[in-house]
Amino acid sequence: MTPSHAPDTNSRVIETDAVVIGAGPVGLFQVFQLGLLDIRCHIVDALPHPGGQPVALYPGKPIFDIPGVPVCTGQELTDNLLKQVAPFQPGWHLGQTVTMLEKQADGRFALETSAATRLLTRAVVIAAGVGAFQPRGLKAPGVEDLSLDQLAYHPINPERFAGQHVLVVGGDEEALRFALAVSADGPHTARHVTLLHRRNTHSADAATLSLLQNRLARPGLETMTGQVASVSADDTSVNVSVATPDGTQTRLAVDTLAVFLGLSPRLGPITDWGLDMARKQLQVNTEDFSTHAAGVFAVGDINTYPGKKKLIVCGFHECVLAAYGVHAHLRPDTPALLQYTTTSPKLHRLLGLPDPLAP
Ligand SMILES: Cc1cc2nc3c(=O)[nH]c(=O)nc-3n(C[C@H](O)[C@H](O)[C@H](O)COP(=O)(O)OP(=O)(O)OC[C@H]3O[C@@H](n4cnc5c(N)ncnc54)[C@H](O)[C@@H]3O)c2cc1C
Repeated sequence: MTPSHAPDTNSRVIETDAVVIGAGPVGLFQVFQLGLLDIRCHIVDALPHPGGQPVALYPGKPIFDIPGVPVCTGQELTDNLLKQVAPFQPGWHLGQTVTMLEKQADGRFALETSAATRLLTRAVVIAAGVGAFQPRGLKAPGVEDLSLDQLAYHPINPERFAGQHVLVVGGDEEALRFALAVSADGPHTARHVTLLHRRNTHSADAATLSLLQNRLARPGLETMTGQVASVSADDTSVNVSVATPDGTQTRLAVDTLAVFLGLSPRLGPITDWGLDMARKQLQVNTEDFSTHAAGVFAVGDINTYPGKKKLIVCGFHECVLAAYGVHAHLRPDTPALLQYTTTSPKLHRLLGLPDPLAP
């Protein structure tokens, strides 16, 4: 199952029982554990795709310590977690950062995102890892004066650059894929694409590198080695001074800079929500992973407690206890009974599995 990337309709407030902040491995498993207790939820992530650190920072690297899975990549782990949560159909809000979390007079929590999505919920599970992933900014004199039309950060829709000279800054898979997409023949082709990277080699999979080699044989796409030294814009173009490895500077006049310098996490707004923190992590009660604010829970890399280990498997364990904590908060008069996924007809129904007793 691929979560929908369709933009939210922001005009209404979405009311729900639980919101999970962060769609890393732990946030995704939290959705599953809430689902087993029949608690439907919405999930928000700053990235345009689920997966957190394993997808954003080390997507192709093998992970060897997921129980029962001798080896998998971060992307494979995420794909499997997405399959696991599919029966519970969470509401997805990707590509947006939760900027506000505020307790309301009726005990519920109001959340607002950078895309103006508004959620009203009775419980919140913060699975924010090391912070919201944001594109790393281009640092060069003059960058701050460029308009949004002249400077774009990943993720970028290639279609907006039709007929332009685009300077793609970066040398990773994302940068290459974008350069190939924006220079591909079609109604939205850029006039010219310059792919600028500080090294003369690129890091991408073999298929992408081979596509790049083929495309470079045709006009419309070129590569350049160097770094942006400074930029200045006039009415017609952005003038970019590029420092090259031989110590000289080359000037380019382009329409837009499309920047792919990787991602870096920013804890940002979480520190403003009045929650108890120690060394930039949320302090929790290990009985149910609640924070000191009733109704707010924290799991995964974002939390701290004596003996905490920042490992995916530890975050998964925390999700189970947090789900029971959320259940106790939402339904204090109906204790959640432990049931096995192997034998419980109720869990099978929740998982959308066929009823073995049905005629
Ligand atoms: C190079 C490397 C290798 C690793 N190898 C292993 C390994 O082999 N085994 C292992 O167990 N662990 C490994 N880890 C650690 C593992 O990746 C983390 O423990 C795990 O990713 C934590 O998961 P999480 O869901 O808590 O947080 P993350 O994976 O960090 O996900 C948190 C998500 O929350 C989002 N977010 C944060 N704040 C907000 C906000 N305000 N609004 C919206 N979204 C927000 C972020 O964008 C992010 O996507 C490794 C880490 C690194 C860096």
